[in-house]
Formats: sequence, C-alpha cells, structure tokens
Amino acid sequence: MSFLSLTNIKKSFGPVQVVHDFNMGIEKGEFVSFLGPSGCGKTTILRMIAGFETPSDGRITIDGKDQGSLKPNQRNIGMVFQAYALFPNMNVHDNVAFGLKVAGASRSEIDTRVKQMLGLIKLDHLADRFPYQMSGGQQQRVALARALAVKPQVLLLDEPLSALDAKIRVSLREEIRQIQQQLGITTVFVTHDQEEALSISDRIVVMNAGRADQIGTPFEIYNTPATRFVASFVGTLNIIEAKVADPATGAVMVGDQPVTLAEPIANLKGGDTISLALRPEAGSIAESASGDTSLVGEVEATNFLGSVIRTRLRVGNDLISFDMFNNPGVVPPSYGESVKLRFAAKDLLVIRE
Ligand code: ATP
Repeated sequence: MSFLSLTNIKKSFGPVQVVHDFNMGIEKGEFVSFLGPSGCGKTTILRMIAGFETPSDGRITIDGKDQGSLKPNQRNIGMVFQAYALFPNMNVHDNVAFGLKVAGASRSEIDTRVKQMLGLIKLDHLADRFPYQMSGGQQQRVALARALAVKPQVLLLDEPLSALDAKIRVSLREEIRQIQQQLGITTVFVTHDQEEALSISDRIVVMNAGRADQIGTPFEIYNTPATRFVASFVGTLNIIEAKVADPATGAVMVGDQPVTLAEPIANLKGGDTISLALRPEAGSIAESASGDTSLVGEVEATNFLGSVIRTRLRVGNDLISFDMFNNPGVVPPSYGESVKLRFAAKDLLVIRE
C-alpha cells in the first residue's frame, strides 16, 4: 500500500458530484501536483486529505492509518494556503512556533526547531518581524516554515504561489521543491498553472470535471497526453483534423496532403475523421531539418515570443503553429509565403477524446 492512499473517493455537494471515483497511491517523499482548470475538483481532494471535507464515499489512509475518523487537527498534516494565513498579531518566530506550542513542546525545543525552520527558508534575520512588515513571498515562506515545524507526515499546498508576482513565483517554487527534497516530505500541490506543475512535480494528476484524465510524470503528461483535454491543457498544441485513408498503414489525409502516421490506426476505418496533435517545437522549416513527414502550408502570422518565434501556417482547414529558436541570423518566413514544415511521424500523436 502507498504511503498516502486515496481509494474510490467520491464527493458530492448536495446533488452535484464534484469528485468521481478517484484512486491514487502517493509514495513517501513524492511531490504530486493536481493540475486543472477552476472547478475541476482539485481543491476538494486536497481538503478531503486535510480533513476539512468528508468524502461521500471512499477511504484515505496515511502510512496505513485510516484518516476517516480523524479531525483536521488530529491528522499529521501541514498546510499552506493561497492567501497568507499568518497570524497578523504574531511575529515570525511566534507564527512558526504556534503548532509546536499547541503540541506542548518545551521552550528550548521550540526555539531550536524555529531556528532550524527559519534557517531552512533563509529568513533567520526576520524572526522579530510581523507579517505586515514582509513581502508576499516572505510571508509564504514563513507559512511554509510554520506548516513544516511540527514535522507533518504530509505537506499540502493549495495554490501557495498564485497571489505572488511572476518572478517571485518562479524562485519560490524552486525553493519549495528544494526544501521538499531536502526533507523528503510527501507533498500534494494544487495548481491551475501547467508550467508550475511541469517544473516541480514527480507526478502530475490532470483533473477534468472531477475525474483524473491522466496521472503521470511531467514527461509522460507532456509527451504522451492521454486525452484531448490533457493535450490542450498542458502546453501549446496544434490539433489537426485529418481523414483516415488506410488504417492498416496509418495513412491519413490532412486536407489534400497525404501523411503516414508512425503506427496503424486502431478502431477506425477509411473515411473516418481523426484528431492529431503536434507540438509547435516538433516541426521545422529549416533546409537542414530532418523528419520523415512534411506538410506544406501558407504563413498566416509570426509572433516574436522572446526565446522563440512562433509561426502559424494554414494547411487546408487547419492552422499549425511551429517554433523557431531565436538564434542570431534566424529569418522568420514572410506573410503569405509557402513553406514546407518537416517533422517526425512519431511526433504526430493520435488524440482520443
Ligand atoms: P479552483 O481552482 O477554482 O479552486 P478547483 O478545481 O479547486 O477550482 P474545487 O474548489 O475543488 O475546484 O471545486 C469543485 C466544485 O465543487 C466546484 O464546482 C465548486 O463550486 C464546488 N464546491 C466546492 N466546495 C463546495 C461547497 N462547500 N459547497 C458546494 N459546492 C462546492
């Protein structure tokens, strides 16, 4: 059995079911992100682990122990919320010490642990500050130290970065990951930001309307999305509508251009419509580009995005974007130009609904 185990979890609010039969085992020391759009049920799952919500059905265990009968304060869990939930009338030291005091730790135990925690978040010098005297990022680091001070079995992070500036968000997410790995603490992180989830997780759960569409490593989620929803939610993706020509050989038509997929097409027949996905970074129009497959299209737009230039091609009824790295000397194609986009057949993914 996994360290944190969620078995057949269902949750309804009145007549509305917001979590449908969710199952997952999370290993000790793993960092798992729940990723999905607003309302998909990710926070509800986190709140059930914390004990703030009761599952309508199913079982949650931590280290083999059923959590069902335990109130939130009886569970050995640390939590950090989106809004800075520090006690405004307590300084940093007392905020971090709070849980230890409640647990009846001695003064010297508390002081040692608080020092250790402030060292971990590199805020030793701010022990006397009050929350209103600190930046949002500093407050969230204190909130993290407070959650970790009591040595929880599981750390729950509910969009802890979403109220911060973009730059701080990136540095703090790296710091959270570093601390998590240093302590080896099992962590569940909720976010609607795909870049955030991809960058720091061991595994990601992509939630769609109360269900897990896919559970996998960032590589698996990005490279082999299981559904159209995952494909479009994670990263930028071209969806190409094609017609099956010969399922046995993987031959399809994109508009009037023939393309052969890397594998035969299961469960479809000639004339059926098929959705294919191609990442913008998978194609190239360079003379030197390799790739066993190509499509010719007309340039509709080029967008300078900094490190890459994204060009949109019209291929029949489809629009296909591809990226060129912004190297010195790179020349993007002009509007209206006809170009040949080369890519590997294996990068053309068949998307199931
Ligand atoms: P967000 O990022 O906006 O918080 P989420 O994916 O975390 O979204 P949840 O907060 O888990 O979504 O909510 C899932 C669904 O359950 C939503 O439709 C929400 O309106 C509903 N919901 C959540 N809490 C309650 C509640 N206490 N009573 C009734 N409905 C609720």
